[in-house]
Amino acid sequence: MKKVALLALLICSLFAKAQLHINPGVDTTDIRNKKVLAFYSSYINDFKSKTKLPDYKKYWSEQDCKNYKNPDPSVYGIGGDYPTYLMAESKTIYYLKPLKDGVFNIKMLGSWTDSLKNNAVMYMTNQFIKVVDDHQIYFIQPIDFYKKDWNKQVFGQVTYYFPKYHQFNRKKSQLLRQQIKDLEKQWSLPPKSITYFFADTYDEIQQLRGFDFTIGMGNADKPMGISNQADNTVFCAGNGENYFHEVVHVYLNPLHPNSPLNEGLAVFYGGSLGRDLSWHTKRLQDYLQLHSEIDLSKLQDFYYMDNYTNPNSTIQGILCNAIYKRDGFQGLKKLMTYTSLNDIFEKEFKIDLKNLNQELRKLIELQ
Ligand SMILES: [Zn+2]
Repeated sequence: MKKVALLALLICSLFAKAQLHINPGVDTTDIRNKKVLAFYSSYINDFKSKTKLPDYKKYWSEQDCKNYKNPDPSVYGIGGDYPTYLMAESKTIYYLKPLKDGVFNIKMLGSWTDSLKNNAVMYMTNQFIKVVDDHQIYFIQPIDFYKKDWNKQVFGQVTYYFPKYHQFNRKKSQLLRQQIKDLEKQWSLPPKSITYFFADTYDEIQQLRGFDFTIGMGNADKPMGISNQADNTVFCAGNGENYFHEVVHVYLNPLHPNSPLNEGLAVFYGGSLGRDLSWHTKRLQDYLQLHSEIDLSKLQDFYYMDNYTNPNSTIQGILCNAIYKRDGFQGLKKLMTYTSLNDIFEKEFKIDLKNLNQELRKLIELQ
């Protein structure tokens, strides 16, 4: 998700104050529709900034607010830690359908216009709102709406949710359990209860989080995941019961929120996009051989290689692995206390920043 997250960040900061529109064709004369539209608009407009979020108790059921610090799984729907509803230049509600039992299905398009006036789509939400009476109106979590299609299985400290077509694999969940136990031991951490949603495709995962579409969807399927550390929740596609990478984020990100290597540490442990670090390292080595024009002293510019390897997270993983090979877990723990990559290059790898491109290429080649 890194590439998309970067792109989203570039765009979102420009349009944080975007207005909400209602598409022609949506029935705004119906009194119940009016109520739902006002409720939804008020919610979206309550996302003021990255740190100023709505009071979820005003919009979500008591039970959901009890179960989750953030009951809305769509808030960080595109990646990173920037709310989806602060992204996009233009937000348009284009679909509002009353279903049965006072439930409404609402959909919104988030988009922007480029310099050539082409319209570009960032996301399309797909959410549910329940109107009980004049005073009671709240969102329903997509998992509750779709629950007849999903199974639940508790395995040790992990509560899994997965589509009914899937046969639960105890072996894979056992493997995850062992990896978690090892991680807890290595970092001296108490066990956490993890809520773990998985499906074959990312499309199903995004539907469960309240979207028909988010930017980057529509390419060939590959394993991918996303985590929510506030609620110890992970969402994974294409890798079944043991997507360890996202669980590592849940355990270790809160220990060092300012480290530039949180993604690398998760890649070191759990690989990325369904492949381990050594697979990505080999691909990155081959790619760099062919592309001498890439300047690794400008790492932020090298965020895309292809659909299967993320060069940025691979390089981060390589840095973690190099330190682990040299100094073991103690070295890794120290590495994660740095808050700048340049400090890491200078102090841990003794690299003169003037030669960063050559030195980093050498380091990658030696892996
Ligand atoms: Zn990650």
